Amino acid sequence: MKIICIGRNYRDHAQELNNAVPTSPMFFLKPETALLRNNRPFFLPDFTQELHYEVELVYRICRLGKNISPKFAHRYYDSVGIGIDLTARDLQEKCKSNGWPWEMAKAFDNSAPLSSKFIDKEQLNLDNISFKLLKNDQVVQTGNSGEMIFSIDQIITYVSQFITLKIGDLIFTGTPAGVGSVTIGDTLKAYVGNELLLTTKIL
Ligand code: ZN
Repeated sequence: MKIICIGRNYRDHAQELNNAVPTSPMFFLKPETALLRNNRPFFLPDFTQELHYEVELVYRICRLGKNISPKFAHRYYDSVGIGIDLTARDLQEKCKSNGWPWEMAKAFDNSAPLSSKFIDKEQLNLDNISFKLLKNDQVVQTGNSGEMIFSIDQIITYVSQFITLKIGDLIFTGTPAGVGSVTIGDTLKAYVGNELLLTTKIL
């Protein structure tokens, strides 16, 4: 399986990092080894001095597809969970300034904590899924699927022009404003609506 991540999909977050709002979806990949499941802790690696959290809605692909038309995109995902796109922001800045790919800043081991539970999409109002992240029990990020610049259907159509989607693939759909750094001892808790779906402690 693969993890497809969308960058700059919320206006307020693009602005907080001084990035232009994109005119087409911007994506990058994380490998399967990035997954951190079952609320396990994240061990802070020594290659970064600035590890950031980015809470994101995550959609699970349920059908094989390529060149998926907008009309049928909704058939290709069945459930929604929540994840954190952990980012070595200092390394990402270095990659950006050198014109390098982002993998070392985004795709490292355990950089994708993921909820064990995914909510069946039939139980959700897909245009109005609220989510939030708490750091040490303080709300640091809030978002809503209705605020995405590119909807999940548009993302599926766009990405599937380039990459075949397979059952079990995951799409991280971008983060709202409020990203920030974590340090050893911090606890992150991610919610869909008022339901706690993901916890990870930084060690
Ligand atoms: Zn992200």
